Amino acid sequence: MQELSCTSCGNRVLVEKYSPTHTSVQWLEDSEASCPEFARKVAEGMRIDRIPTCVKLRASIEEAARQGVLGMDAPRSYPVPGQLG
Ligand SMILES: [Zn+2]
Repeated sequence: MQELSCTSCGNRVLVEKYSPTHTSVQWLEDSEASCPEFARKVAEGMRIDRIPTCVKLRASIEEAARQGVLGMDAPRSYPVPGQLG
């Protein structure tokens, strides 16, 4: 997995990209503590497990993939349940 920062909030995550459509994201910290977007939704009363992902983080990942920063690895580690971004 590769470390990547959200260009919006600076939250650091581990990312593994298997294919253009399959990306596995592993948060290094509590998402609500490290990402303002999660914190805001939790504050609004949304359950943490109902929040799909930080949109800005998703965009950061896509951008990194486009620039070739994220290499596409063959799957060798299992995605962690509940941590898919
Ligand atoms: Zn974020």
